[in-house]
Amino acid sequence: MIQTKKKIIIAIDGYSSSGKSTLAKEIAKTLDYKYIDSGAMYRAVTLFAIRNNIIDPKNHQIDEEKLRNLINQVQVNFKYNSDKDKQETYLNEENVEEEIREMEVSDNVSFISKYGFVREKMVKFQQEIGKEKGIVMDGRDIGTIVFPNAELKIFMNANAKVRAERRYLELKEKNVDVSFDEILENVRKRDHIDETREESPLKKASDSIELDNSNMNRQEQLDWIVRLVKERIG
Ligand code: C5P
Repeated sequence: MIQTKKKIIIAIDGYSSSGKSTLAKEIAKTLDYKYIDSGAMYRAVTLFAIRNNIIDPKNHQIDEEKLRNLINQVQVNFKYNSDKDKQETYLNEENVEEEIREMEVSDNVSFISKYGFVREKMVKFQQEIGKEKGIVMDGRDIGTIVFPNAELKIFMNANAKVRAERRYLELKEKNVDVSFDEILENVRKRDHIDETREESPLKKASDSIELDNSNMNRQEQLDWIVRLVKERIG
């Protein structure tokens, strides 16, 4: 473990399945910081929308009025599970950590996360958590919107096929029945929606440092970010 002189906020943004969460978790552990997965929050809202017939998961048709009316019933938070040594996502006090990773949620999340009123609420939750400092948060707009003053901002990318391959192996390991082509399509579709949406599109903050990890292993990425942290805050 490395102890930093002062506690900072580390913002890690980037494309779907670019390895943000793996790196974010590892650096959080190394620094003894708290890791927050902002994507899990949008996934939890999406699960809520599917369960409440706000979105038709097959054709992504959304009842915007209903979503607007019900969004205030959504509470998302994280609790640490010491057996699994990880933070788990709770939707209105129910543990939904597993369910929000399923394909149905992945397929629909970008359609829900594009609404300004959804984002506003999630950003408030995220900023509240960030008041503590000593956190690593990953997402799409952390360095641009949520914490524009974060002391260290990273923007991650890797080519779409490499990202789809990683996601495919991850899901295979969990015995999820899915094809590589389905995943590649999902990754590409989410990239496109996330980059072109009007509200807080995915883009690199001007003061963030880019990491293309297509050809880097986990240890190399961790060493890279540890070096940056040391340079920045000693
Ligand atoms: O990070 P993850 O892939 O789990 O995020 C799921 C989706 O949530 C993204 O595709 C994006 O639509 C949305 N998201 C977002 N802003 C964030 C984090 C995630 O719009 N800060």
